[in-house]
Amino acid sequence: MSSTLKHSLMRDGAFLVELLNRATAEPLLYPRCRAVEQLLAELALSRESDRVEPFNVLLRPHTVTAQLLGWKDGVPVFEDMPTLPESDLMLLVVKLARARLISRVKKCACGRWFFNRGEFCKRSCWKTNYLAKPKVQQENAKYQMRYFRENLSKYQKLYKRGMTAEQVRMHRKKLKLKPRRRRGS
Ligand SMILES: [Zn+2]
Repeated sequence: MSSTLKHSLMRDGAFLVELLNRATAEPLLYPRCRAVEQLLAELALSRESDRVEPFNVLLRPHTVTAQLLGWKDGVPVFEDMPTLPESDLMLLVVKLARARLISRVKKCACGRWFFNRGEFCKRSCWKTNYLAKPKVQQENAKYQMRYFRENLSKYQKLYKRGMTAEQVRMHRKKLKLKPRRRRGS
């Protein structure tokens, strides 16, 4: 693949996910993008099952170009929708799939579409997911415990010497049991 083509495909991919994200807020775009979402889902299914008809049925064209936003000085104000007809949008999916780039069009756990490798759209999403993992939470709890013992606990000296919680408990017991020396005795 030439670098110019690759570059243009990268732009296409970025454009596609931008459109999918815009669609969640713009009702007029939504039906078209809903169709693309279905197309993407069907394409993924087709890969699993080798079925092609449901995908081909979804490749039907529709067109939306602008929406009325309101009026200014007696003139209607339109917002241009991306003018790509849906058939072209479908072709964009086909183009990216052919170039083996469609697997980069993904929906993040936060709901945003993104075009990239990896599982998450941004670092903060990765972090949220990472911290939610039970293993990470366990590690975190262990770290907090160790931090408490070595920096905040009354017995930090004992912990720093490498004593376990059980050993510190025994040590404390011994201290309590030891009879105090009386003055003069
Ligand atoms: Zn995200």
